[in-house]
Formats: sequence, C-alpha cells, structure tokens
Amino acid sequence: MKAVRLEGVGGIALREIGKPSAGPDDLLVWIEACGVCGTDRHLFHGEFPCTPPVTLGHEFSGIVEAIGTAVSGFSVGDRVTGDPNIACGRCPHCHAGRINLCHNLIAIGIHRDGGFAEYVVLPQKQAFLLPKDLKPTHGALCEPLGCCLHGLDLAQIKPGSSVAVLGGGVIGLLTVQLARLAGATTIILSTRQASRRALAEELGATATVDPRAYDIIDAIVGPSGLLPGGVDVVFECAGVRETVEQSMRLAKAGGTVVVVGVMPQGMKAEFEPFDLLFRELKVLGSFLNPFTHRRAADLIASGAIEIDKLISRQVPLEDAAEVIANPPAPGEVKVLVVPR
Ligand code: NAP
Ligand code: ZN
Repeated sequence: MKAVRLEGVGGIALREIGKPSAGPDDLLVWIEACGVCGTDRHLFHGEFPCTPPVTLGHEFSGIVEAIGTAVSGFSVGDRVTGDPNIACGRCPHCHAGRINLCHNLIAIGIHRDGGFAEYVVLPQKQAFLLPKDLKPTHGALCEPLGCCLHGLDLAQIKPGSSVAVLGGGVIGLLTVQLARLAGATTIILSTRQASRRALAEELGATATVDPRAYDIIDAIVGPSGLLPGGVDVVFECAGVRETVEQSMRLAKAGGTVVVVGVMPQGMKAEFEPFDLLFRELKVLGSFLNPFTHRRAADLIASGAIEIDKLISRQVPLEDAAEVIANPPAPGEVKVLVVPR
C-alpha cells in the first residue's frame, strides 16, 4: 500500500510498503481522510520527538476492512474514528485517571504507523463508531475537536460567560464553536488574518480583533474596550509568547486562562506573580484529549459543529509530503489527505 513515511528529520516521502494486518485486538481501517496538523510539520523539522521511519497522520477516520479475532462491538464496513493517543493503563497517572499524562504514552502517527496511508491498524480500545451516513471527511476532525473539548472542560464556562480566544487556526475556530455551545454570550477572537476573523464571526464569535492593528488589551479590556474589566475565560490557541502574555492580562480577577497552544520548548513568557496572586487567576494547561474522543465523535455526528468551512483543501496521498514539508498557505485552516 502507499504510505507517507517520515524517514528522519527533513526526510518525508510517499513509499510503497506492505499492507498491514489486524492483530487479535485490532481493526484494519481503510482511511477515508486524515488531517494535516502543525505537529506533523514539527515532526518533519525534528522539533518533536518521534521514532522514524514511521507513517505520519494522527487525525484519521475510515471504514473497517477487517477485524481481529478478539474484537467485539465493531463489524466490517463500520465507519470509525481513531483516538491516536494510546495510554498504558498501568502507570501512576493512568491509575489516577490522567491518561493524557501517561508515562508510556504512544501515539499512532508519531510512534507507530498512522493515517497518511491507505490503511491503518487501530487497536479496538482506540476506535469509536461514527454514523454510516456521516460525510466521509468529517471524522478526521474528531481528534482536534477532542483536544479542544478537554480545554473547554477545564475552563468550566457557564451560560453567560465571556470568552476570548487567541489564535484563529483550526483549534481556535473549534474552540469558538464549543464556547458558543457551552453558553458563552460574548466570544472574542484575536487572529491576524482577515479571512479567519470573518470565518470566526460566521461560526459564533461575537467580535474579532486584529492583533497587528491595535493593542488588543486596550481594545478588549480597556476602559472603552469590548469588555472593560476583563474576560471570564481566555483560551490561548496560538502557541506564541505574545498571546501567552496577553492571556494573563485579558482575564478578569478570578478568571481562567487555558493554555492550549504548544510553545517551543524552552520559550519563556513574562507575567507578574503579584498580579496572578492579587487577581486570583487560574492558569491551566490543556494537553491532548483525555476521555473526550467519544464526545467529539458524537458532536461531529450531531452536526452541531461546522466542519466543512474549516476544510480548506483535500489532497491525495501523492501531495501529502509536500503539504507537510511546507508552511500552511495564507488563509488555510485544515488540509485533509484523502487517499482515494
Ligand atoms: P495554527 O493553525 O498554527 O493556529 C494558530 C494561529 O494563531 C496561527 O495560524 C495564527 O493565525 C495565530 N496567531 C499567531 N500569532 C498570533 C498572535 N500574535 N495573535 C493572535 N493570533 C496569532 O495551529 P492550530 O492547529 O490551530 O493549533 C493551535 C495551537 O494549538 C498550536 O500551537 C498547536 O500546536 C496547539 N495544539 C495543542 C493541542 C493540545 O492538546 N493542547 C492539540 C492540538 C494543537 P493568524 O495568521 O490568523 O494570526
Ligand atoms: Zn500510563
């Protein structure tokens, strides 16, 4: 079968490799769509540890082609989405229910072969059913949505809450939609590209700001800003120093900052511990998708999340290596690799 192989830092190519087969506890899944994520680009550049040679792709869904002898609850022909993050189930964090912090976490598409291929082997405990009539491309968004759901859960938004989202990539735009579903009545998105600000307003943002045009602290929480006094919950979804620092200043006293963006290791940001204390800010990291994949799949199946507008392009396996090796094109939100 064809598979997009990361062979080392800066080395990625479409290769012909043997078609895998399902072990006793596995499903063999025929890939319908697999999303390109910033992490794939980090892996290509060697900025994130992995174990090459490996087939990349951790945001996938498809049709079950074969099942192992010990599999129950799945049949050939089912549409499934895969949670790529496999926790060991026996380390102290797993025993405490924090499977995203598992000491022995293995990710499909990072440490073992993933979804930029014709087929992927998916352990049954990582597989989740999707409706047969769901659009074949939509299941690929379950993984990023699951990560956003964890952030939402940590934030404890209430009906009427005010929210700021910093960064208008797919994570920011999914978070805007989840905040709306959770009952936030003011949702402000900051992102530089005008097309993404327009899209965010279609998806439920009540206002958008351009962080290059003016000081967003003044524009949002200044005396004549959109929310003088501050925002209940800030989601940092850009992964840059500037937005991390802004998030602490945008949150109101007693408010919550959820850091979803991945900063380069070693990067530092400045904040005043006095301010953190005096205003009792809660600053929370949100990592991966612990126990959220089922809900993400249900939300996508329900149609409550707008997916089509987030999909900028669909490309064949033949073009995937080039997409991963290059930065995203202006305006692009999510690129899907569609093997057939
Ligand atoms: P993305 O497409 O790179 O989106 C981030 C966007 O932030 C950029 O495209 C950029 O859009 C915007 N941005 C950059 N500088 C900004 C600034 N100064 N102010 C406001 N916006 C700014 O990536 P994504 O896929 O949406 O992911 C977002 C972040 O979440 C990444 O760091 C990713 O690694 C991380 N992530 C975390 C998890 C988790 O489990 N915690 C899961 C998935 C992804 P403009 O050009 O429009 O400004
Ligand atoms: Zn574990």
